[in-house]
Amino acid sequence: EYQARINSIKNSYNRPIREVQIPQKDGKPMYTSEFFGSNVFSFKTLEKRLPKPVYQCFIKQMRGRQVMDKNTADSVAHAVRIWAMDRGATHFTHWFQPQTGSTAEKHDSFLTLKSNFSSQGHEITPIDAFSGSQLLQAEPDASSFPSGGMRTTFEARGYTVWDTTSPMFVRAGPHGTSVLYIPSIFISYNGDALDEKTVLLRSSEAISKAAVELLELIDSPTEENSTVSHIYTTLGVEQEFFLIDRELCGLRKDLKITGRTLFGRLPPKHQQLEDHYFGKMPTHILSTISEVELELIKLGVPVKTRHNEVAPSQFEMAPIFENSSIAVDHNLLIMEVLHRVAHRHNLEVLFHEKPFKGINGSGKHCNWSLSTDYGENLLDPTNSPEKNDRFLFFLIAILNAVYVHAGLLRLGVASASNDHRLGANEAPPAIISIFLGKHLTEVLDSIEEDRTIKYSLPHVERIKVGGTAIDVKISSLPEILRDLTDRNRTSPFAFTGNKFEFRAVGSKQSTSFPVTLLNAAVASSIQEIIEALKKQKGNKDLLTDEDKLIVLRYYIKKTKPIRFDGDNYSNEWIEEAKVRGLLNLKNSPAAFSQLLEPIHANMLMKDGIFSESEIHSRHNILLEKYVKDLLIEAGTFETIVNTQILPAAFEFRKSLAEAINMLDSMSAPELRTLEKTTPIVGKLQKLMDTLKENIEKFLKIENLTEQVASAQIYLTSVIETARIEVDKLEEIVPDKLWPMPKYSELLFT
Ligand code: ADP
Ligand code: MG
Repeated sequence: EYQARINSIKNSYNRPIREVQIPQKDGKPMYTSEFFGSNVFSFKTLEKRLPKPVYQCFIKQMRGRQVMDKNTADSVAHAVRIWAMDRGATHFTHWFQPQTGSTAEKHDSFLTLKSNFSSQGHEITPIDAFSGSQLLQAEPDASSFPSGGMRTTFEARGYTVWDTTSPMFVRAGPHGTSVLYIPSIFISYNGDALDEKTVLLRSSEAISKAAVELLELIDSPTEENSTVSHIYTTLGVEQEFFLIDRELCGLRKDLKITGRTLFGRLPPKHQQLEDHYFGKMPTHILSTISEVELELIKLGVPVKTRHNEVAPSQFEMAPIFENSSIAVDHNLLIMEVLHRVAHRHNLEVLFHEKPFKGINGSGKHCNWSLSTDYGENLLDPTNSPEKNDRFLFFLIAILNAVYVHAGLLRLGVASASNDHRLGANEAPPAIISIFLGKHLTEVLDSIEEDRTIKYSLPHVERIKVGGTAIDVKISSLPEILRDLTDRNRTSPFAFTGNKFEFRAVGSKQSTSFPVTLLNAAVASSIQEIIEALKKQKGNKDLLTDEDKLIVLRYYIKKTKPIRFDGDNYSNEWIEEAKVRGLLNLKNSPAAFSQLLEPIHANMLMKDGIFSESEIHSRHNILLEKYVKDLLIEAGTFETIVNTQILPAAFEFRKSLAEAINMLDSMSAPELRTLEKTTPIVGKLQKLMDTLKENIEKFLKIENLTEQVASAQIYLTSVIETARIEVDKLEEIVPDKLWPMPKYSELLFT
């Protein structure tokens, strides 16, 4: 094992950096904009390839969410097949998002056999074909995907249906072949959502409908853009991850199986020098991420930002924001492409929220806003937010949504792995609150207190060097732009200039569920505000300014407890939040039941975003996943300690004992070391007995809810205690006997 470690480390130093080929045109590298989306079957491509009336039919049916007629579907299928085959596609797949956090696909070839019967006999001709019905719908065996008890195996039928709002694309496979991907939703025989996408699309429709109605109500009829017919939520996802040497990772069963290290001491140098964040990317990492970007750009994923994160070997990638449902697809693609390309560079990507104890974990910041179909950002405060009705009403709708449904949003980010991160002084605590910044707070305060605003609020202050607010005292610098909001990195839900940033989302999870819940809560909150406005309006033709102010004031007051601009990591905040009556759901078991709370469940059901059975099934899936994750960790821990750690400790003790025997006994310094290891090994052995018994007892608990409630005591707490002993051994047992790569090797190779 030692030799394997040494070899892996040597290999990693000797390995040449893999070259990345930028697409060329006329012997020159192409511009990124020239090959952006080259593997995407865009509406533009479709338009070019279809007769005009057929294309118009398609657009009409897509926009209206109507069932597509056979003729249109066949034409689209034919066009996309030819396009894809010209790009080397041999297969197609409905690409969907079961509730596993990742995606699923089953490939079918375009090959079909055509039979000709004639007097000469039976002749078979191979042809390539792809019909409209194959494009629209497929029937994968649904029995192996989580359904939370909604579907028993004997009614295993599930359907994937093309999500026409998300464009198809081809992805390269081996040997120059590729596969046509058809983004799809996944539903059961009864039409229940079995996936992440269906509910997301439903929530998008709900929020659009509510938001359009609110605009109609508050906009004066003369206002430009008063004909907004559709509003969508925008999402920009910052993805954090670790990249570590793949050979070394392969020597750590815990990392491979559970995604995190179950053992390991902090090396003397880790992140305390703060020298990694925004530092220069190591060349092999830059080469990996560049190749990832190349593939993603071709897939139409607008990747924009890349940088080192706080922890050693930790990085971040972020695309330009898009319509939420597309952004969710694209985040999943970023994760998949990262995973694959990393392998080509002999790296393993870790998406777990906390792969290394004592070192910063990874999150997924969801930047979220609302946009009209004219592209107007409804959360842009503009120069005078205090006079901007649109902005103010959407702002209070969000404040109200988060205030009322904080528990639900907390649930949306609950998982065994995210429990390690939330509240761990590096990520927002489990208490959901909103940061607005001092400018917006003043806007809301002035409305609440019915007074004029104390200072005017240019959206972006343009400050000449030497001006009053920012003076960097360097005369050669150009004007500096200052954002409206100051920064607060500790808030779970922060206003950042013209969008909110939901920071509690886990790095490993799909953004679909948390965004669905957010969309749903905001949609419902907008409806509530519409009702309040209508009531205020009474029989009048139009709302008066005073009507609007009364409603604004009411919601500003009501939602005040959810606003907090201070340090969310501090203990004072935990106390203060308690006084304010905010929920502090410290871990997943405490959060799961939120989904079933009537206040949240009824909200999710009233617009048909979830059905009752979908809520229960999802709740079940969350619980099952939690229990399985912890059982897998406990089992992995047990195996590694029994087959790797203890044997290494025994071998070490044997060599010490032999030495003591050989060297004249009791005065040998080896004795001290031996005496030091004995109690540790003994304690570890005992803890392993306890773990074994606990796992057996745990498996006998029949009720899932009870299992969730006791997983911490039976499983996690024991492995946490036992880990301490293993980590003590790591310090005593000679490096050459230690059976796995150490943190220092994993993080700095
Ligand atoms: P920071 O690290 O400072 O928070 P980044 O620039 O890394 O910011 O990421 C900000 C993310 O927010 C990007 O993905 C960006 O596209 C996204 N974003 C910007 N404006 C909006 C918006 N209106 N709606 C949704 N996301 C947005
Ligand atoms: Mg951010």
